[in-house]
Amino acid sequence: MSEHDEGRADGCCGGRHHDEGQGCCGRHGCGGTGERDRIVLFVVGPLETNCYAYVSRGECLIVDPGNSGAKVAEHLPEGVTVRYLAATHGHGDHVGGVKALREAVGGRYVIHPADAELARHAGEPSETGRAYDDNAPEPDLTYEEGDVLELGSARFRVMETPGHTPGSVCLVGEGTATGVAFMGDTLFQGSCGRTDLTGGSPRDMSLSLARLKRELDPQTRLFCGHGEMTTMGEELASNPYLRS
Ligand SMILES: [Zn+2]
Ligand SMILES: [Zn+2]
Repeated sequence: MSEHDEGRADGCCGGRHHDEGQGCCGRHGCGGTGERDRIVLFVVGPLETNCYAYVSRGECLIVDPGNSGAKVAEHLPEGVTVRYLAATHGHGDHVGGVKALREAVGGRYVIHPADAELARHAGEPSETGRAYDDNAPEPDLTYEEGDVLELGSARFRVMETPGHTPGSVCLVGEGTATGVAFMGDTLFQGSCGRTDLTGGSPRDMSLSLARLKRELDPQTRLFCGHGEMTTMGEELASNPYLRS
């Protein structure tokens, strides 16, 4: 995490909280079953990548541990069992912290097979000249279109959205995670992921964006790989990349 982010991580458990779903009280530290699902945000690394912890009934999915894995581990909500470390794609700023975080908290590292090799080089300078903490390890699992990650009472379905990279995915919430989606670098508030890096494809990106338009409910809250959270409805109304 950058120094700015370490400051933020001095709070109760390391990030901003978003309470999800219908729970008994939703208060921080409630503990046990029946508490609301929640999302904790960590902003990590030089590109200020959003790493998210989604917690449901004491089980946790971590999305895009891009750097500073040991620090993210220190600031996870107490007592959670980490089920998955999921990468939305293989760029170093999304997987550079996988190794250290998995060593600290366990969980299975999962990525789309088309991006696994890219992730193995996260700790080496990329074509943009940046390197992150560590190369990502061998995946424990790979996921593809339609696969589902389960944790607590939440599920996340894999939607393949190539364009930024060949193995980019969005994770679309179901169960108590209904209305939440992790977007990686496919769609941002007011923008979309770049397609000019190796493996990028403007044509695939436009097909993926068209698919998001068709399939995501406007109410869906979008947790993007960089920048602010938004909703599909807001993006449909204002994002120029969703106009065509
Ligand atoms: Zn990326
Ligand atoms: Zn990124």
